[in-house]
Amino acid sequence: MTEIKLYNTKTRRKEVFEPLDPDNVRMYVCGPTVYDRAHLGNARPVVVFDILYRLLRHEYGADHVKYVRNFTDVDDKINARAAETGRPIGDITAETTQWFLEDMAALGALEPTDMPRATQYIPQMIVMIEDLIAKGHAYEAEGHVLFKVRSYAEYGALSGRSVDDMIAGARVEVAPYKDDPMDFVLWKPSSDDLPGWNSPWGRGRPGWHIECSAMAYELLGARFDIHGGGNDLTFPHHENEIAQSKCAGHGFANVWMHNEMLQVEGKKMSKSLGNFFTVRDLLDQGVPGEVIRFVMLSTHYRKPMDWTEKKREEAEKTLRRWYSQIAAKPNDGYRTPNAFLRLLSDDLNTSGAITTLHGLSELGNVSELKGGLKLMGMLDEKVPGWTSVVSFDLLPFQAMLLDARVAAKKNKNFSEVDRIKSILLDAGIEVRMSKENVELEITPSFEPKKLEQL
Ligand code: AMP
Ligand code: ZN
Repeated sequence: MTEIKLYNTKTRRKEVFEPLDPDNVRMYVCGPTVYDRAHLGNARPVVVFDILYRLLRHEYGADHVKYVRNFTDVDDKINARAAETGRPIGDITAETTQWFLEDMAALGALEPTDMPRATQYIPQMIVMIEDLIAKGHAYEAEGHVLFKVRSYAEYGALSGRSVDDMIAGARVEVAPYKDDPMDFVLWKPSSDDLPGWNSPWGRGRPGWHIECSAMAYELLGARFDIHGGGNDLTFPHHENEIAQSKCAGHGFANVWMHNEMLQVEGKKMSKSLGNFFTVRDLLDQGVPGEVIRFVMLSTHYRKPMDWTEKKREEAEKTLRRWYSQIAAKPNDGYRTPNAFLRLLSDDLNTSGAITTLHGLSELGNVSELKGGLKLMGMLDEKVPGWTSVVSFDLLPFQAMLLDARVAAKKNKNFSEVDRIKSILLDAGIEVRMSKENVELEITPSFEPKKLEQL
């Protein structure tokens, strides 16, 4: 068993990971708000926590890891989108949820074991809010229920800031019904045109943070191992999740993990800068999902990641080279390389792990190269991309060329050999002919379609 170390935002150190129950390792990751296509930044936590999920499955067994990632399908951004477009909310959230699943599958991300939608857990949220009121941590005011931040002494511990600093730094909403500007909404009233559920406080809808506390409790229990998300969520979202769950008497998550943000060509991705694009945009441009995944993982998750055209090109070249190498040795199996696994287990050092793959490729160690790529979520037959290259069988073409050469030597006419050779070359297959043998190798410009002429 490999020792896994993870950086815990809560303690600000790397710690040896010890699951509460190795037979039931439990992780929660905050998922998307479903009103639009996932942009490239949204894919980063998906790919990062997919790697962690794969590593945990590798170490504890595929049936012993529970991974919950929610869909936020009740939110003011969704309501606004519905108002803008005149479309029913349910249509927008259903369509966006489906897009998200398709786009993330194209990046080779495994589906979590549970993907709860917030709207399916309203009763659990109401129970939790009632409990917080009963325990003196929340209060009702003008149809709203607010969490009393000053009632939780450890508020701010995750992000390492005091409540007063947070008030100074954050744009907290001052509202007449709040006792304190820091208090945040657990429940708010809905007008007739907005989604709403009956509650002890009238018809309304939940605030954003309560859903994660309620769904984590329902699906993972009062205490679980890992909670993840982008570091833009540390404050206020995760700070608020902790306050709600701890005040409800839950142990909540042991390890808190946060990925840094993704930028594009050194700049924050934003619509106004014109460098905003979705995962689907890239896929539609013909960038294989595996390339996107590979570029994402070439930067450590705790560092800002810069998406650049140059990185995309390089990743494409590297993968083509490796896949050609793999295709040339179809009989080599999969072996997980030790150094690769050690680096991955060291707080998901994916960039270091990728460096070891370069070394394995140089050594021609195809089975370990395959083993490493597999653990990174590559070489997945279900993901359309270049996996056809990997399973491509060159043997029939080798035999064809050998036979043609035997015949050519007999009748002193090499035109057929030359014809086969030139088609192979044109299709991106390198041909090396020695006296005894013929060696074929797929190159990065491989185009299997062109072999149909043979
Ligand atoms: P949202 O739908 O905005 O709530 O975001 C869904 C997930 O994407 C959250 O885990 C965010 O932290 C993450 N996220 C959003 N923007 C970026 C970005 N530029 N880079 C990395 N992660 C991001
Ligand atoms: Zn959350």
